[in-house]
Amino acid sequence: MSDDIRHAALSDIGRRRARNEDSMVVEPDLGLFLVADGMGGHEHGDVASKLAAELIHEAVAAGEDLEDAIRRANRHILGQSGAGSPFPMGTTVCAVLMNGSTYRLAWVGDSRAYRFNGDLERLTTDHTYVQELVDRGHLNDRQAREHPYRNMLLQALGVTDQDELQVAEIQGELAPGEGLLLCTDGLTGELDDDDISGILAGGGDLESDAKELIDRALEHGGNDNVTLILIRRDSN
Ligand code: CA
Repeated sequence: MSDDIRHAALSDIGRRRARNEDSMVVEPDLGLFLVADGMGGHEHGDVASKLAAELIHEAVAAGEDLEDAIRRANRHILGQSGAGSPFPMGTTVCAVLMNGSTYRLAWVGDSRAYRFNGDLERLTTDHTYVQELVDRGHLNDRQAREHPYRNMLLQALGVTDQDELQVAEIQGELAPGEGLLLCTDGLTGELDDDDISGILAGGGDLESDAKELIDRALEHGGNDNVTLILIRRDSN
């Protein structure tokens, strides 16, 4: 990762949950950053997200391709969640691998990545039932946010069969001053894209922006664990 790339990362249990089932990896030396959200309503969601984080970290550190690392994690967690467990355990993942100022982004589930540079652009598409309805024109974004099945995932590590797993991928490059936000749905469930954009548009230091995003999600209810990572290339 080039030395003009900064980062900040925060996770908060929120106001309603007894455990923080989110996990993250922040490894600037590898250029690897990821968030993972253990699935609510499933036993051992915290175990699933932690396993995914560790397995992907290990595999990338060993030189494995990011998508292959995510597939390996799925196979492993599927193996664990089957044996004697009354409930499957599942997790999302949204991971970015930086190489200089270029990035590869890969995800499964509804943890998101955005690009910001004054304005905000969502890079990921949620693997959710409501996103499919939005894509087919049956719901708008606001209706999707309020839909009773808004949390229903169509893909998750530890739940989706290996041959049905579709790891989504994007590549890009950060221009000077441009940044990435990775986050779990504890942030996007409380704040819409305009709220997030308003906080990041100031271009303040990343630590205070990260803290403000968490504080605002808590003010809006803090109904879920909130985890986010900000990565930004310095302006010239
Ligand atoms: Ca969550």
